[in-house]
Amino acid sequence: MQFDDQLAIERAMVIVAHPDDAEFGSSGTVALWTRAGVEVTYVLATNGASGSSDPNMTRERLAGIRKTEQEAAAAVLGVARVVWLGFEDGYLEPTLELRKSIAREVRRYKPDAIITSDPTIRWWGEGYINHPDHIAVGECVLRTVNPDASSGLMFPELWREEGLAPHKPKALFLVNSDPADVFVDITETMDTKIKALECHVCQVGDWPVGDFMRERNRQRGAEKGMQYAEAYKLFRLEED
Ligand SMILES: [Zn+2]
Repeated sequence: MQFDDQLAIERAMVIVAHPDDAEFGSSGTVALWTRAGVEVTYVLATNGASGSSDPNMTRERLAGIRKTEQEAAAAVLGVARVVWLGFEDGYLEPTLELRKSIAREVRRYKPDAIITSDPTIRWWGEGYINHPDHIAVGECVLRTVNPDASSGLMFPELWREEGLAPHKPKALFLVNSDPADVFVDITETMDTKIKALECHVCQVGDWPVGDFMRERNRQRGAEKGMQYAEAYKLFRLEED
């Protein structure tokens, strides 16, 4: 698929902290890409085991529920596979262990484009403090672009023992950066995005997530005359 006149994408990877992060942030874009034949891999850093306010819920049971819900959302979007790194929700830090786990999947599936969280976002407005797991995963993805997945002798055991040669993606998309520099018109996949979000039953419950999401993506689109849009900061990493 030709993203624009400079960037062609055959394989993409969405790397996020929690089940549902990818649906809120970039699933309109992902649905467009899979329809155009792009092979999309999801990489989930954590098991989602902290996301409940039910005192009778256990971490183990919630992790199972969230896995099932995330797999269902991915299927709605035409995502080829979901890779679970298995870290604990809420305890994620930008460690060498997380960096290596992410670099392993990037080397294995060789995405042309990676989508992830913007690790510079600490808060939005007056009402939202960003989750530390989002910051940690975004930070480790920046490190995977340079140097973890791209440099031969970073984590040399990945190459020597697991046969995973270095890989350098062509592009990195950071979700919800503000200001953003790339706007993807998701008008034709907005309904699919909401269907995927609604798979996360234990998170959205009775909350009208569709109304919330339409308003968010409408606001982003308004900047560019699009009905609904997702916005990114885009790094083009190809050498001239
Ligand atoms: Zn999250």
